Amino acid sequence: MNSLTCWMCGAEANSSEHRLKKSDIVRAYGRGPYNGDYRPLHVRTGKLTAIQGPNSRTIKYDANLCHICNTTSSQPYDVSYDLFIEWVFRNESLVLRRRFVNFDEVFGPDFPLHQLNLYKYFAKSFGCRLIDAGQAVPEDVRDLFGKEQFQTALRITFSVNEDVLAMPASDRDGFIGKSDLTAMVQRNDPTQIDGFIFNEHVSWFTTHYWYAFAPDGNLGAAWVADSQHIYLGSHEPLSPEERAEMIEKLSPRRAD
Ligand SMILES: [Zn+2]
Repeated sequence: MNSLTCWMCGAEANSSEHRLKKSDIVRAYGRGPYNGDYRPLHVRTGKLTAIQGPNSRTIKYDANLCHICNTTSSQPYDVSYDLFIEWVFRNESLVLRRRFVNFDEVFGPDFPLHQLNLYKYFAKSFGCRLIDAGQAVPEDVRDLFGKEQFQTALRITFSVNEDVLAMPASDRDGFIGKSDLTAMVQRNDPTQIDGFIFNEHVSWFTTHYWYAFAPDGNLGAAWVADSQHIYLGSHEPLSPEERAEMIEKLSPRRAD
């Protein structure tokens, strides 16, 4: 598989997936163009880039999918994700109090199909992240898209980033991004990659990906496509000193 091949179906790749989901950017910042003080900045490996609008090339991957896989085939996944994430933030205080989500409440009676499509949304996001890092997408992930039942080593957990939650809502709503991809290698042969870990976030809502690697239970209960509930974990990436510094930096703006 080379970089000009769609990783989902093997056809010619001519379509670019967003690194950050367009609807997440639009929800936080509007449709653009973005300018002035509230322009979103994209942070990638320490480099800041101002983005001009939700279709900015800065926030797209290189083409690694074909047009059909990136639009027609994956549209139901995007629909389920948008319904899900909008529900979470519309019911933010309820979700934070209960720390679980019941898909029946999010999607109604069609929840089994939607939760399957939601899982495929995350699997696609995971695959695009791997390709971007120069890694092949494992076969069990590539093969699951056309199936209703499948076995895969990809586990997903969700957690609340308590540091982001401590920010004023106006600051945390624009906090959208992805972590670096971590590959787990074999101790006796570091060229052999065993598993991958990465996460992405919209505000405090953090999605963790665990491929062939046991999830950290503090970061939520492992979710696969066939379970109706997700149970959120909790994490505080900042040290107490860093958290105090962040609150200090944000507080003068809050007083305005
Ligand atoms: Zn394709």
